[in-house]
Amino acid sequence: MESELPVFCERCSTELTPGRGDFYVVKVEAYAEAGPVVITEEDLAGDQEKKMGEILESMEGISAQEAMDAVHRRLHFHLCRSCYRAWIEKPAGGDGGL
Ligand SMILES: [Zn+2]
Repeated sequence: MESELPVFCERCSTELTPGRGDFYVVKVEAYAEAGPVVITEEDLAGDQEKKMGEILESMEGISAQEAMDAVHRRLHFHLCRSCYRAWIEKPAGGDGGL
């Protein structure tokens, strides 16, 4: 069972005990504001058929899941109380950020 796996603080690796309320569960959802394929004016100025072929070729071998991962990430982690207090003040950086 997943709930019986040990849980560790993402920042300081302290072992956390579910059910005691001594840690926080953090869920982050991030996605790119635009799609992963950016076509510039330069691209359009060249040999378009060739460019399209290159773009399609570069996408071959990328699974649908990998393509999704490139634009959309869901993170799920645990922080002990003290790490949480430090992290929530500066979730995007600062000292010892994730
Ligand atoms: Zn911690």
